[in-house]
Amino acid sequence: MNTYPALDLLTDDPDLLYPRLDDFGPTAIEDLCGGIRVFFPTPEARDNARTALIQICSASAIDVPDEDWARRSQEHLEPVTVGRVTIRPRQTEDRASSNGISIVIEPSMGFGTGHHATTRLCLAAMQTFDLAGKSVLDVGTGSGVLAIAGVLLGARAATGVDVDPDAIQSAITSLSLNPSAAAVMFVTADYRTTPLPPADVVTANLTGALLARSAKEISRLVAPNGALVLSGVMTSERDEVVRAFDSLPLVWERNEDEWVGLVMKKS
Ligand code: SAH
Repeated sequence: MNTYPALDLLTDDPDLLYPRLDDFGPTAIEDLCGGIRVFFPTPEARDNARTALIQICSASAIDVPDEDWARRSQEHLEPVTVGRVTIRPRQTEDRASSNGISIVIEPSMGFGTGHHATTRLCLAAMQTFDLAGKSVLDVGTGSGVLAIAGVLLGARAATGVDVDPDAIQSAITSLSLNPSAAAVMFVTADYRTTPLPPADVVTANLTGALLARSAKEISRLVAPNGALVLSGVMTSERDEVVRAFDSLPLVWERNEDEWVGLVMKKS
């Protein structure tokens, strides 16, 4: 059976571990009682993360059977509404109301079911401006939810990129569940090394550390007069991220739990 390399980390404050985990490209994080389970694209990435993290918390390597993960994640997911947009896991589709915009998601390894504050902050940020006729680039698309939301909110077209091929696979599945969002394309790519065309609206829900480190590359992806939506930033990282993007004025900011969503404008 196919398995996913993961680490079980014992911690009462997972937020402290996220910046450290970032260097190893985690693909998904699941809450456990007294800790978190973090999934990695390869056993090597997992083992390297374990070597680094074992110095600060108890970390044990496990291989999680994929069927079990998918089944358990599907059992608990409920629809999530942010402004005009509702994200519905596929099994709750029959409860769809006719109000607002509905996005159907297959719960899977790709992050982005709306159950994380940072996805909700990005969805709220995207609804603070008019997307009509705009192009959207979603950097680190996960299950593709922000790219799909962009088109359903009026964008002309959207592209979602992710370094993790499994995430792109789940984004493509999301697209098939949302036929009205046809003008969306998903590509496996690392935005730091693959040249990508600038867009009117760029969304990047990554991590504070990664955003601060690659502010130049990300800013370059925003077209003139365009907007940049950032999240994945913890409150403790907010100032560092804003400083790294200081060429783009901050026009919107919101907090949810310990997370921050930011919108910056390019002139
Ligand atoms: N946009 C979704 C998912 C965010 S999770 C949402 O808002 O819910 C962050 C995603 O960024 C993960 O799927 C991860 O694989 C991807 N990612 C991390 N580093 C990346 C890189 N250098 N290039 C492209 N994608 C990256």
